[in-house]
Amino acid sequence: MVVVGAGPAGLSAAYRLVEQGVETLVLEQTNRVGGISRTETYEEYAFDIGGHRFFTKNEEVDRLWRDMLGDDFLSVPRMSRIYYRGRFFDYPLKPLNALANLGLTESVLIPLSYLRAQLWGHRREETFEQWVSNRFGERLYRTFFKTYTEKVWGIPCNEILATWAAQRIQGLSLSTAVTNALFGIQKAKSLIDAFDYPRRGPGMMWERFQRAIESSGGQLRLGSEVTRLCHDQGRILRVVSRENGKESEMPVHELISSMPVSTLIGRLDPKPPEEVLDAARRLSYRSFLIVVLILDKPEVFPDQWIYVHGPEVRVGRIQNFKNWSPTMVPDPVKTSLGMEYFCDEGDEIWEMPDEDLRELASSELASLGLAGADDVVDSYVVRQPKAYPVYNQGYEQSLQTIRDFLGTIDNLQTIGRNGMHRYNNMDHSMLTGMLAAENVMGSSHDLWQVNEEEAYLEEESLADSREAVIAPVLARMDKLAFATSVGSASGLLIFLATIWLVVKGGDVVGPNLRLLENYFFGYTVTVKGAFLALAYAFCWGFLFGWLFAYLRNLILAIYLYSAKKKAEMLSIRDFFESF
Ligand SMILES: Cc1cc2nc3c(=O)[nH]c(=O)nc-3n(C[C@H](O)[C@H](O)[C@H](O)COP(=O)(O)OP(=O)(O)OC[C@H]3O[C@@H](n4cnc5c(N)ncnc54)[C@H](O)[C@@H]3O)c2cc1C
Repeated sequence: MVVVGAGPAGLSAAYRLVEQGVETLVLEQTNRVGGISRTETYEEYAFDIGGHRFFTKNEEVDRLWRDMLGDDFLSVPRMSRIYYRGRFFDYPLKPLNALANLGLTESVLIPLSYLRAQLWGHRREETFEQWVSNRFGERLYRTFFKTYTEKVWGIPCNEILATWAAQRIQGLSLSTAVTNALFGIQKAKSLIDAFDYPRRGPGMMWERFQRAIESSGGQLRLGSEVTRLCHDQGRILRVVSRENGKESEMPVHELISSMPVSTLIGRLDPKPPEEVLDAARRLSYRSFLIVVLILDKPEVFPDQWIYVHGPEVRVGRIQNFKNWSPTMVPDPVKTSLGMEYFCDEGDEIWEMPDEDLRELASSELASLGLAGADDVVDSYVVRQPKAYPVYNQGYEQSLQTIRDFLGTIDNLQTIGRNGMHRYNNMDHSMLTGMLAAENVMGSSHDLWQVNEEEAYLEEESLADSREAVIAPVLARMDKLAFATSVGSASGLLIFLATIWLVVKGGDVVGPNLRLLENYFFGYTVTVKGAFLALAYAFCWGFLFGWLFAYLRNLILAIYLYSAKKKAEMLSIRDFFESF
């Protein structure tokens, strides 16, 4: 059994396989485990590629993490803010803090622009810009969404599709918004307060996996790059890998691959049909570069990370690693900051020499007023290609073409983030690996069902059951039907009461009911009066019923609309988390 890649997905697959006694070999092209979730070190300063929070809703993954790390798995109270125009904004945004930081003029203009968007928003929502402006107003969009999103993706917001925005910022149905408003949004809350983190960075977790695999008889070959996958008649027969410049070949029974799926397609021998190669070429990625600055300063800021929204600098986010775990820094009087730049392989930032990157990062840090450029005593640069699979126009179609072709190879499964071109976090990457391993042992899991929206689905199914309970309460009332029923019931009631009193007879017939004469002109407690009362009571009942139903519908509609708006506002808080 061969697994390609020793990131979270590949290691989880291998771990599950060796647990079941399957002979397993992991081939990893770099010299350390963890993939994008590795811990890098420089002069005993440890840091990760972007700051990896461990958070999952999957109990099995959670248990595995805790078993692996025990006391070395820290619970970190979270602190992160947005830095914009020289001020820190609480993140998630808090209205009072945001308004205080924005100043009086903006505090007035933002609600006005929000109101304008509600009344005269963009008729068509084709782009990210239109989608966000319609929901939050043009000014809030420009302040909090535009620059950061453009830094991350490197394209103008008016070229990003609205469908992508709808996916990243939950567009909730009215009733889901109401159930969330009533029952709270649990996931967002728990992500905000605290997260788990290994004492020595995320790589510590993957080193424990490596140890566990090797101690159960599995093999990991680091520095071994898979260069060719020879296949015939719907089966991978051999894997060719390069180690220290030398190629070697080995037979394969089953193969699980976490290498980027576009790379995998290019390494198949013989080559797949041109349309599949073309689809692989169309998948694109965003890369990432981190300049670690070591400062001769014990404290710089208290956050684990800061989002930098200002367009005046190119840095997108700044990590402060000692605030993730104190042991990330060997000397407590020093601080290591990770200046994060989102880029494309081969672009100006990517190609910049390390010395120039240090200059750029130090001067940007100083221009933001967070530390002096002179405080920087050392630096280190790490470039991470293919950090983010890009969901661009047509990517789903390309991916489908690739999946259809790979589906014809029986003993090959692709897993993980780039292996499936899915925006998976560590937990979902792991799950795909674990399920692929189970498939090798006879199960038939559909790995494509596991994705980052899984948590959503869990939430939605919970919300669904709540909706089932409250849906009847939220249904619109049919005004005509309700008015007719109230009218008929009142008319009939008074008609019968009058007839009953007439039949009963007596000296004075129906002295109390006779009071109705004040409201029903011409009414008497007689048979004729009973028919008159029927008509009157029907009309009054109808009018009252119609008004009641109208007001009830109106109040409900206002409530539902405001609940939806509130839920949309709340969902901003998840937006920046996902990059
Ligand atoms: C900036 C950033 C921040 C993130 N923050 C978080 C976070 O806070 N929480 C979270 O849960 N997730 C986070 N993630 C996502 C997380 O990093 C990924 O989900 C996870 O690393 C994916 O694991 P994987 O095994 O699928 O892929 P990878 O980590 O990419 O591992 C794939 C492995 O395959 C190897 N490989 C590739 N090609 C070959 C080949 N030809 N031969 C041999 N080996 C090969 C690679 O070297 C690599 O080691 C973040 C990602 C980024 C970019």
